Amino acid sequence: MDLGIRGRKALVCAASKGLGKACAMSLAREGVAVTIVARTAGPLAETAEEIRKATEVKVTAVAADITTDAGRAAALEACPAPDILVNNAGGPPPGDFHNWDRDDWIKAIDANMLTSIFLIKATVDGMVERRFGRVVNITSSAVKAPIDVLGLSNGARSGLTGFIAGIARNFAQHNVTINNLLPGRFATDRLTANFPATAKARGVSVEQVADELKRQIPARRFGDPHEFGEACAYLCSAQAGYVTGQNFLIDGGAYPGTF
Ligand code: NAP
Repeated sequence: MDLGIRGRKALVCAASKGLGKACAMSLAREGVAVTIVARTAGPLAETAEEIRKATEVKVTAVAADITTDAGRAAALEACPAPDILVNNAGGPPPGDFHNWDRDDWIKAIDANMLTSIFLIKATVDGMVERRFGRVVNITSSAVKAPIDVLGLSNGARSGLTGFIAGIARNFAQHNVTINNLLPGRFATDRLTANFPATAKARGVSVEQVADELKRQIPARRFGDPHEFGEACAYLCSAQAGYVTGQNFLIDGGAYPGTF
């Protein structure tokens, strides 16, 4: 299916690795010029080159922390009028809420709530004027089924989700949509980075840790970031103009509820 977005421009945040990278690659394969942002210049430049080689679209790399005013300004300077905005940032660390102070909460809210809100604020009116806009916020399955040790993520991302539900409908008449994509467990560094420590603490192998988690998922595997990227590209397509304010869960069937 041709997604009807060839020649459009996308700003994809936190995109040198993992889910953000997969979204950038899937959009680029549809002929979208992408501006990708991450903090570490080396891997970002490698990813930019990989996307360029695979797709021949224009790829601009911005090494910046998207959770800061200066980082967002740099991203918007490189891509001032995006047709597509993919909001993403690193997730907060796990822990016990007794140990989190105000600074921990502000950091999580900055990264996983306010950054998306400020980027939408900076770009949505231009999308309305051009009568095309697609915003996809990468959140988490934890918004639907909270994970106790990820309290910072549960809280900050739920705040964003409530905010999006409130504004998404305002823009639908202008062909501007805002949706959230909720990843379950995907095979990225974010997921697998903790396996060695867990394995060591329990005296089991890394494979055993991974296998136990996979058994909890009806699909019996972790998601492939490519699957996530393709879902993102669909939500950004011309055909998806009638889909807005939705929370699209991609979790291999892990969430057990009817809705
Ligand atoms: P990942 O593989 O660790 O990749 C994270 C990417 O974001 C990297 O490119 C990283 O590059 C960039 N990044 C992180 N913080 C940034 C910042 N402040 N400014 C700019 N770029 C930043 O992670 P992932 O698995 O793709 O996860 C993406 C998001 O989905 C996270 O919020 C995560 O919590 C959430 N999530 C993931 C899963 C999963 O199973 N993978 C499940 C639920 C939710 P630099 O470090 O160089 O900046």
